[in-house]
Amino acid sequence: MKAAVVNAPHELVITDIEEPRPGMGEILVEVRACGVCGTDLHIYDGQFPAKYPIVMGHEFCGVVVAVGDNVSQISVGDKVAIQPNVSCGSCELCRRGRPNLCQGLLAYGVHMHGGFAQMCIVRHENAFHIGGLSFEAGALVEPLACCLHGINLVGVNAGERVIVFGAGPIGLLLAQLCRLRGASEVVVVDVLEERIHASSSLGFVALSSYELNSKEAEHTHSYELAIDASGATAVIERMTRFVRDGGRLLIFGVAPLDADVPIRPFEIYRRELTLIGAFSLGYEFDSAIRLLSSGQIHYKPLITHRMPLDGIHEALEYKRRGVGLKAIVFPSDEV
Ligand SMILES: [Zn+2]
Ligand SMILES: [Zn+2]
Repeated sequence: MKAAVVNAPHELVITDIEEPRPGMGEILVEVRACGVCGTDLHIYDGQFPAKYPIVMGHEFCGVVVAVGDNVSQISVGDKVAIQPNVSCGSCELCRRGRPNLCQGLLAYGVHMHGGFAQMCIVRHENAFHIGGLSFEAGALVEPLACCLHGINLVGVNAGERVIVFGAGPIGLLLAQLCRLRGASEVVVVDVLEERIHASSSLGFVALSSYELNSKEAEHTHSYELAIDASGATAVIERMTRFVRDGGRLLIFGVAPLDADVPIRPFEIYRRELTLIGAFSLGYEFDSAIRLLSSGQIHYKPLITHRMPLDGIHEALEYKRRGVGLKAIVFPSDEV
């Protein structure tokens, strides 16, 4: 079968590898769609603790083509999206219901082969039925589940005003979830024209960073919640000025590992600010599937590129240069 294998950082080849066979409790999935994510670029660049050689891709769905022994509730022919995290189940954080914080956390597409291949082996517990959802929507279940995780952690109350920094696919999913939770105003900020345009066509108040800076006084202390979906330190260090006293800040974007921003403890104290981080996902996968199925999430405008498996180099380059929003790879298309 064809697979996109990263042998070492910056060494990505499309190659034939042996088709895996499902072992005990495992299923074989023919991958029908797999989203390209910033994390894939970090793994490709060697900036993420992955295990090489690796077939990347942790945002995928497909059709079950074989099942191993001891597999329940999943059968050949089922359409499933894959929850990529595998947590140990026995460490302190797993036992406290925080599986994404598991000390031994592994993930398909990071430590075990993932979705940029015609086939992928996963544990049956990681497969979730997607019913009538399209495959490209199925590839968005994982990013949406991560966004739900963040929104559930920070909480959004009806009538609140929210400002979101970064209008990539993640920023636009987070903004949509805020609106679904009843936010009265959702402002989305980005530097790229294409993303500002996408934000306003989704009905958000869209601002360029330049516009925000020039009208800063108007936006100062104006929001109950500020969300970073950019990972840019220049954004994160300025976020406190946009929230009202008693406001909340959600750090969702992935900043560089060694990035530092100054915080003023007195300001956090005096203004009773709450700073919340959100990493990956916990138990939000089935909710994400239901939300996509309900039609309440506008995901189509988020998908700007569709490509076969060989398109992965191009998709990673687009990601690096901020071209478009989400690219989806269809690994089984040229079988
Ligand atoms: Zn991702
Ligand atoms: Zn654990």
